[in-house]
Amino acid sequence: MPNCPNQPRNLKGCTCSYSSCGNRGVCCDCVAQHRAAGEIPGCFFSKAGERSYDRSAANFVQDQE
Ligand code: SF4
Repeated sequence: MPNCPNQPRNLKGCTCSYSSCGNRGVCCDCVAQHRAAGEIPGCFFSKAGERSYDRSAANFVQDQE
């Protein structure tokens, strides 16, 4: 688990429902992980889109329609 002083504050606004992920509330690591995979963090998706756990760019575009 990373040591981020902003984690408690970030967690209040985190909409990711993947509760076992160690990046929750550590937005820099979350973004870096998904960016490296060509993906988009869960908080950019609608509630239903986030729940799919498909963080692909294609699913993000579909989620906006
Ligand atoms: S969006 Fe991905 S990296 Fe970020 S907290 Fe959720 S599962 Fe973890």
